[in-house]
Amino acid sequence: MEDLLNSPARCRELIDAYGSPVNVHEFAALGSNAQELRTVAAAHSIDFQIYFARKANKTMGAIDQAIRAGCGVDVASLNELRQCLDRGVPAERIIVTAAVKSRALLQLAIASRVTISVDNKDELLEVSELADERGENVEVALRLAVAHPAIPPTRFGLLAARWLEVLGDTELASRVTVAGIHFHLNGYDASARALGISEALSLIGQLRTMGHEPTFVDMGGGIPMSYVDSAEQWENFWSTLEPLPAGDETLTWKSDRLGATGGAPVAGVYPYHQELVRGAWLDEILGSATEPGSVSIASSLRRAQIQLRCEPGRSLLDGCGMTIAEVAFTKNRSDGVPLVGLHMNRTQCRSTSADFLVDPLLVHQGQPQRKRTFDSAFLVGAYCIEEELLLRRRFEFPAGVAAGDLVAFPNTAGYLMHIVESASHQLPLAANVLWNGDQWVADDIDRMQL
Ligand SMILES: *Cc1c(COP(=O)(O)O)cnc(C)c1O
Repeated sequence: MEDLLNSPARCRELIDAYGSPVNVHEFAALGSNAQELRTVAAAHSIDFQIYFARKANKTMGAIDQAIRAGCGVDVASLNELRQCLDRGVPAERIIVTAAVKSRALLQLAIASRVTISVDNKDELLEVSELADERGENVEVALRLAVAHPAIPPTRFGLLAARWLEVLGDTELASRVTVAGIHFHLNGYDASARALGISEALSLIGQLRTMGHEPTFVDMGGGIPMSYVDSAEQWENFWSTLEPLPAGDETLTWKSDRLGATGGAPVAGVYPYHQELVRGAWLDEILGSATEPGSVSIASSLRRAQIQLRCEPGRSLLDGCGMTIAEVAFTKNRSDGVPLVGLHMNRTQCRSTSADFLVDPLLVHQGQPQRKRTFDSAFLVGAYCIEEELLLRRRFEFPAGVAAGDLVAFPNTAGYLMHIVESASHQLPLAANVLWNGDQWVADDIDRMQL
């Protein structure tokens, strides 16, 4: 990212060739991020596998790199599955975890012998009927809703007791192979994962007595990463925002609190600064015991001879991409507040988080097209809505900004580029390019028909 930003001419070439904004990818970091997890798993002597959660970034380049890095892929729709199979990803390296699964998705998964994470009884019945029709055996993972009171209620999966009831129907149970237990939790808490793994292992114990032979526990995603290195910057932001009176726009648009209450960031935003990430976080889970005096999670997994799987999206993509947009204009809101308009809309750097709390970077072009303005300003986008802010924070431009300059949003490869992007107003989706080791090339995803 830094290399590219140090060359304003290269940035300009990308915008000229692909339009604004452009999503640029360089996937080398995916391999090292995966390795960080593997090193810790190996230190605990557990059998371990990583499935890249593809919904976090739609490029084909991400799939290629995940496979090169020895990972599998977690897919969330028919198109995601089809594209992986067409790309040559082996079936045993894929898991289908879509929240709602079309018949076509189930049929393709069954025909291709891809494991399906089954959410509920209706879905299990449909899977077994479809497999029966084809005379195929189908491998399923049971999606577990963790029952422990420390874990909030979830729409996903069923409680262990409920799965045991469902599989008590021996006719149904004989038609599917229960390959593993899957769960995916909200949030990033290591101790919650330890509780989930422990419940999954106890369900596996019961399933074994019923004649099933599950081989893995998949703890889903939510492996934390840190976008902002400095804890101090992160805390200062919140403690500065908190006392600002309503209507004070020195820091955020319309003094938006971004979901914070009482100075502490809450679930309204991603925790952009975190201390325990990837390897250290996994180490905490594996070394922990869920009850005093009981053995560690790692030794429970080893004793049960169960492979631990995970499905990181965001944290595998840490350092893999950036979004660059061109400044269209500078102006003032009718009451004087300075604005910088970009050729970009707010769905092109957005997740389900209230705001992306990483500072964008300004890339000056040699000769400004217009006089540069030096005011602190809000970044506004292309949708015809008053609240069309690219970011809800206000930014300083000590070196000035003018039409034709570029603004880069760093580290956007995980979710920020793609998860809610839309082509409203018939504005095209942003192009995706990747560094192939030699030059910038268009990613194949933008050529594909859905
Ligand atoms: C979204 C999702 C993931 C990935 O989550 P991250 O927070 O990106 O790691 C993994 N598994 C399932 C089932 C998901 O829905």
